[in-house]
Amino acid sequence: MPRVLVAEDDARLAGMLTELLTSEGYEVVVATDGQRALHLGLTEEVDVLILDRGLPILDGLDVLGRLRDNGVTVPVLILSALGNAAHRVEGLDGGAEDYLAKPFDIDELLARLRVLRRRGASTTPAVRFPGGMLEVGNRTVVTSRGDRVVLSERESALLEQLARRPTQVFSRAVLLDTVFADADDPGVVDTYVHHLRKKFGRDLIETVRGLGYRMGSLS
Ligand code: CA
Repeated sequence: MPRVLVAEDDARLAGMLTELLTSEGYEVVVATDGQRALHLGLTEEVDVLILDRGLPILDGLDVLGRLRDNGVTVPVLILSALGNAAHRVEGLDGGAEDYLAKPFDIDELLARLRVLRRRGASTTPAVRFPGGMLEVGNRTVVTSRGDRVVLSERESALLEQLARRPTQVFSRAVLLDTVFADADDPGVVDTYVHHLRKKFGRDLIETVRGLGYRMGSLS
């Protein structure tokens, strides 16, 4: 079931969207302020984000910027009462894939969500992290200096996992399960952490004592 995060502070609209999207087969997660939207965007696996621009605590464009800065590549559709060309450009430049002005037509919203989900599923995503990004399809790290480094399949899979959830600490057991499902020695995790650090510096992956590993930065 596709999951959609709806960030909308207007309770009536949030309720209407939840009902509509649920009836269309989506699982809906709602955030009613920007801080909550950012938190859910960083920690929940969703297929698409519907983001109201005017949100309390943290503005929709700020939420979007912080998600993109943290390497979250989920397709984003901005919903906003501000609908002129300059507003749309701001939203798209801010990292949104689409922009729909309120009031909007329900069928148009649904059609655009279908397009975004297809696009999200078919493109080769680039996962950004501090100091660089990983092009997942060709297993290549592009550094902020413009260097390109090709990774092995396992190095790439490990880096992708960490970079997609940069605030999360992953235990060896979880990484073994999700990245090295064909291996049964937890030591393989440490081996590939070592490989990546050798290529990109110690700071790339942070050791969280007693807990596991977390994404660091490329110095
Ligand atoms: Ca609003």
